[in-house]
Parts: sequence; C-alpha cells; structure tokens
Amino acid sequence: MKEKVLGRTGLKVKTLGFGGIPIQRLSEEDAIEVVRHCYKLGLNYYDTARGYTTSEVRIGKALEDVREKVYLATKSNKRTAEGIKEELETSLKNLRTDYIDVYQLHNVSNQTQWDQVRAPGGALEAVNEAKEQGKIRHLSVTSHSPDMAIELVQSGIFETMMIPYNYLTVQPEEKLLPLCNKLNVGTVIMKPFGGGAFSNANTALKYVLSNPHSDIIIPGMLSIAEIEENYKVWMGDHSLREEEHKLIQQDKELLGDQFCRSCNYCQPCPQEIPISTILRTETQVLRRMGWSDNRVRMVKNAKEKLDTCIHCGECETRCPYNLPIQELLPKAMESLWDRMENRTIP
Ligand code: SF4
Ligand code: SF4
Repeated sequence: MKEKVLGRTGLKVKTLGFGGIPIQRLSEEDAIEVVRHCYKLGLNYYDTARGYTTSEVRIGKALEDVREKVYLATKSNKRTAEGIKEELETSLKNLRTDYIDVYQLHNVSNQTQWDQVRAPGGALEAVNEAKEQGKIRHLSVTSHSPDMAIELVQSGIFETMMIPYNYLTVQPEEKLLPLCNKLNVGTVIMKPFGGGAFSNANTALKYVLSNPHSDIIIPGMLSIAEIEENYKVWMGDHSLREEEHKLIQQDKELLGDQFCRSCNYCQPCPQEIPISTILRTETQVLRRMGWSDNRVRMVKNAKEKLDTCIHCGECETRCPYNLPIQELLPKAMESLWDRMENRTIP
C-alpha cells in the first residue's frame, strides 16, 4: 500500500516520507535539490525538527511554492509553554508557512519528561493554544521508549506517534504499533536503518514497509541516488526473500541489541569524546568502508580523547537506548585499536 490515512489526523500520506536530519550535512543548494526531488517523485510528508539546525530552513525554501500540496511535520524538545511558543514561531518562519500540519513534542522518553510537558505552564498548554489558533493542525509526539510511548498513546492526546523501529529494534511491533492502530493513532517510523548500522538498507526498508501497522516511514535521504534507491524499494514488492532473512540474522548476531544508533543524544560530552564514532567504527563503518589514512587518524584522535573521560556518566543518562556507554567505550576502542594495528576488518 503506497498511501495511507495517518491515524485520526485524516491526512492521506504516501507511506514513504522524508526524514530531515541528514540534509544538515549538505550545502543548502544540494539540500534543496534533494527535498525537491522527493517532491517530484510524489512524496508528500516532510519531517524535520527545531533541533536539526538548518533542516527547517532548507525544507521551507524547497517547498514554499508547493506548500498546500505537502504535509510539514516538525518538533520541539522544549518542555515549557514559553519554550514551545518561541520555537513554534521560529519553525513557522523557517518553514515559510503559517501552519504546521503535524507538530510533535520531541523525544518524550521517560516519566520526568512526560510530567514536565503535562505540568501547569508545560509544553502541552502551548501546543493546545497553538492548535486553537490554527498554527498547528495535529498534535503529536515522538519517543525512543516503547513503554513510555504506550502511555503517551493511551493518554488519548496525540494523533501520531513517532518511534524508532527496525529489524533490530523490534519491541514496538509487539504491543505499541498494534495499539496505535487500534486507537487510530498514526505511526511514523524513524531509524529504519538503525542509524546506518545495517548491512543492506533495502532489506531494512522492506522489513518496516511490510509491517501492516507501520503507516509512514521517514528515512533520512542524503542524495538523489539514495532517494531513487529507496523509491525503487518502496514501489516494489516488500516481502523478504530467504537471503534477506539470512542477512537480518547475520546483523542480529554481529550487532546484538546493544548497538549505537548514531543519534548523538548522548552529546555534548564535556570532554568532547566522539562517543558514537568510537562505538560504531568497528562494527558498522569498517565493514562498509575499510581502513584509510583518515580513519587511522580519526581512531588515534578518538583514543586520545577517550583517555580524558572523567566518568561523569552524563552520556548514559541521555542515551535513549540505555547503553552502558562507559563500559562499552573502552571495549570498543581496544578492539578497534587491535584491528587498526593489523588493518583487519570484521
Ligand atoms: S562519562 Fe565520559 S564519555 Fe560520558 S559524558 Fe562523561 S566524560 Fe563524556
Ligand atoms: S551512545 Fe546512545 S545516545 Fe549516543 S549515539 Fe549511540 S545510541 Fe545515540
């Protein structure tokens, strides 16, 4: 199914949408071209966030003249009414519009955050007011915790739920996604590629697309070639072949469930330790790209930084996947260092 109604928003969305994180890394010109290419292919749902630096501005510039033909979704991680009011105005300006189709409270992943947004003077007050004013059409939420997400969905407040879901993060398929469908809450799937961890992006995309409880999937797309590839998969048959099941099994064995998704929520580290780089290089980057002089330099620099860790634990309190970062970092570096000296790859 290439088009679905997104829960009780009533919006008719193409089931392949656009994730706005990666375009931050492009030049503005290239970013606009990428967004525009998606529009030309017929994609109609564009997700971004106040926190994705230049992403809103670029999407706004790319889609200004076709505003009525697309749905714009953005989000704020502010927990107070005052914070939301300020960020919403910035988002409207950046996106060159006077309304946001889907406005999401960003990353409500634990009880403290949920209590903050519901408190008097909290974020919910501001978004409800903005909805009455017509600045927001539909109120939604994102979370990295399937358990928290269930509570959020059951609150009856939100019209869509955005959650990470992929073949190694399968927890949402047990309870959360069916519950969303039952309660008519639209499901927006982020991180279908596990933050770039998986060996075959097409298989990863098919895995999510084949789940009937997934309404829209928003992979980040960085180039025309990537868009075309994802588009081809989306247009095709989504059933997984035997060799793809084997591939998934291999990734499960290699990555386990304690793998870094490269979301960088653990930053900033006071010692500027490149946490995700260290955690991902051996199992995810080397496999695809091998060793180069740059990579050797990067590993040596990362080791120097890692040696300055003051074990404050701040990174662990921020990681939505509860990774024991302080335990994983030295192990990952030791193994990586060994591979570097012998120039081996996994
Ligand atoms: S525990 Fe180490 S890596 Fe984590 S934030 Fe503190 S200094 Fe950085
Ligand atoms: S360690 Fe956790 S928070 Fe940091 S990038 Fe990896 S998954 Fe994200």
